[in-house]
Amino acid sequence: MILRQSGKIADGLYALGEPELPAFLLSGGKPILFDSGMSFVGPRYLSDIQKTLGNPGKLAYLFLTHSHFDHCGAAAFLKSRIGGLKVGASRMTAETFRKPNAIRLIQALNSPFLEGVEDSGDLVFTGLEVDILIEDGQEFQPEGGGPSFKTIFTPGHTRDSVSYYIPSLKALIPGEAVGVYDLNYIISPEFLSSYKEYMASLEKLAALDVDIIMMSHLFVLTGEDAKGYIRKTINRTKEFRQEILDGLDEFNGDRGAVKQKIFKKDYVDTQAILQPETAYLINLEAKIRAIAEGK
Ligand SMILES: [Zn+2]
Repeated sequence: MILRQSGKIADGLYALGEPELPAFLLSGGKPILFDSGMSFVGPRYLSDIQKTLGNPGKLAYLFLTHSHFDHCGAAAFLKSRIGGLKVGASRMTAETFRKPNAIRLIQALNSPFLEGVEDSGDLVFTGLEVDILIEDGQEFQPEGGGPSFKTIFTPGHTRDSVSYYIPSLKALIPGEAVGVYDLNYIISPEFLSSYKEYMASLEKLAALDVDIIMMSHLFVLTGEDAKGYIRKTINRTKEFRQEILDGLDEFNGDRGAVKQKIFKKDYVDTQAILQPETAYLINLEAKIRAIAEGK
């Protein structure tokens, strides 16, 4: 099934916020949140955590898939509101949150959405202290019972991308390591930092037994839709690479022209991609760069 809604996904597993910018909650003795969307969604996550757990103070951990503005935007806000909340991320992600340029970029991409939001001051991302530095292939067993999960480093979308896999539910939280469906169910491959690493990460994920894929935007896939999805992404990613190579041929290596052609065809003409135009174009440029430079 392809679900586009918040709420319960499976026993102990919930999507919070709106499907466009979900955070995923795994309940148990020490409940865990995965990702924390954009800054303006902070209060909504907090109220959904309250609704699901009774008391937001029960949330013990927040694990992040990567340092993009639409995955960590509300993390600092949640940490400030939930005493004792421990944030887990890779070392690279933790270092990013200390860089003034990265903080400024996260702020800048979030700021248009904070306009008109009342008391938005404490929603502004001003950096984040990471408490738990995760390693690749770690098994994390929360104290107090509840399902364990594994970390799988899946670089290629960004250098710091991490996926989380919950074996007892066969559930995967991949961030953008597996691309995202647009509204027409066309997959947008998301190899911003490296095509080669992205494909290697996809092969790693394809080896998992998966019943649930919690995509980073819009949809949760279950059953057969989840099982076939990673292979589909691999095929679509190869196709998209070829499209970029053909474009570079057609326009004699002019990356700007390739960007405009793909932007018009995939974004403007279809209206099926909900990502803000600025972020879409920054990302498309990075994908063309990765292919043009053989990364
Ligand atoms: Zn991302």
